[in-house]
Amino acid sequence: MFFFRMKCPHESCGVMLSIPRDQEGQTVRCGGCGRTFKAIRKGAAESRASQQSRKRAA
Ligand SMILES: [Zn+2]
Repeated sequence: MFFFRMKCPHESCGVMLSIPRDQEGQTVRCGGCGRTFKAIRKGAAESRASQQSRKRAA
């Protein structure tokens, strides 16, 4: 099973969570604060953007 990393969106929590890919777009429960949120994976676009800015800086 594949997981993606997501930070809990609740302020005062911010725990890094590993969320199963098949729960993407679904409501999941945070193990840190116990509250629920919608699991949205956004790592792909962000990592691509950071690679570009790294090239530009170098
Ligand atoms: Zn949390």
